[in-house]
Amino acid sequence: MMRTQSPPEAMRAKAAPAEIVPHNRLTLGPQEAAAASAAVASGQWAAGPRVAELEQALAARARVAHGVAVANGSAALLLAMRAVGVTRGTDVLVPAYSCPAIANAVLALGARPVPVGVRPSDWNIDPRDAVRRRTSRTSAIVAVHTFGAPAAINDLRSLGVPVVEDCSHAFGLDLEQGTLGGLGDAAVLSLYATKLLAAGEGGVVLTDRAEVAESVREARDYRDRPAGAERCNAMMTDIEAALGLVQLARLDDMLACRECAAARYDEWLVPLAEAGVLRLPPLGEHRVWYRYVVELTSHEADRVVEAMNVCGVRCAQPVSPWSRREEPHCPHARRALRRLLSLPLYPTLRADEQRRVVTALEETLSTEPMDA
Ligand SMILES: *Cc1c(COP(=O)(O)O)cnc(C)c1O
Repeated sequence: MMRTQSPPEAMRAKAAPAEIVPHNRLTLGPQEAAAASAAVASGQWAAGPRVAELEQALAARARVAHGVAVANGSAALLLAMRAVGVTRGTDVLVPAYSCPAIANAVLALGARPVPVGVRPSDWNIDPRDAVRRRTSRTSAIVAVHTFGAPAAINDLRSLGVPVVEDCSHAFGLDLEQGTLGGLGDAAVLSLYATKLLAAGEGGVVLTDRAEVAESVREARDYRDRPAGAERCNAMMTDIEAALGLVQLARLDDMLACRECAAARYDEWLVPLAEAGVLRLPPLGEHRVWYRYVVELTSHEADRVVEAMNVCGVRCAQPVSPWSRREEPHCPHARRALRRLLSLPLYPTLRADEQRRVVTALEETLSTEPMDA
């Protein structure tokens, strides 16, 4: 039997005149342009006063003593893990469902990333599974506040192993247990262009431990230092720091816009949730809305991404797998890889664009699921 052609002609014609709703959009205003331009005009392009100012401002926001800026989130992860004691031949507990950059950094240190199951309630590392995976070889745990929902850092700390908090999706929020970015032995942040706080590229290590900050500071730069296998050039530029400073000043406004947009999805997606075709993300009181991610109950996310594309709406599978093995003890992570769908969410997303996202999703999910 012949399959229905994809994309259907009618849909393509309908979507053609409308603008595409992108999955991400930079929050870019005259302030960013002016700050970058001033940094360029100052003649201080490499790390200088703006990097130092950003380090202090981020540390203050997380209520920790030290901030060290580096070239990107991957370098922040690598240098933070090494600083808290990850060495060759040890194991690092990593959420089975998480950004591959984390496992890459563990492997670069000659350590082994050990996948830990995630909780289906918020897709964060499950502290109970972390207890089961922990051995005498475990040198650290990395926890991500996945999509903006806070991970259980305090529970993980009770395992007695250094915890690195990955705040790329959620940062600076004050919670009962403390401030995101100040809960672990060290926190890392990516300032990649589409992250919560954007600077193009960039990363930061935040910590209360002076020796951890010093280790990262020492390793990120090779100038005027003896040669060493561990040394690298992972400096942030002052142009990037200028962008980061503007974005940090706008963070609360940007978070409020994200929250508003998430509340609209929460309301408009109720019929689909009640029809049982998707599960809404964990509620928004004590979280950051970095991504709005729904769990599809009968459709595969890759097919839905394709179908939405035809309607001019760009969605994404938010995380790609980092382990080639099927991890039998991580069933929720496996399901997340197949079933989680990230909808457009950013401070400049308009209500009419969200309406198009919801309509396209309704159309897509009203069709029979296709075989994978
Ligand atoms: C983006 C990201 C990283 C990697 O950061 P880069 O700046 O791209 O190297 C690490 N962890 C999480 C959770 C991320 O979202």
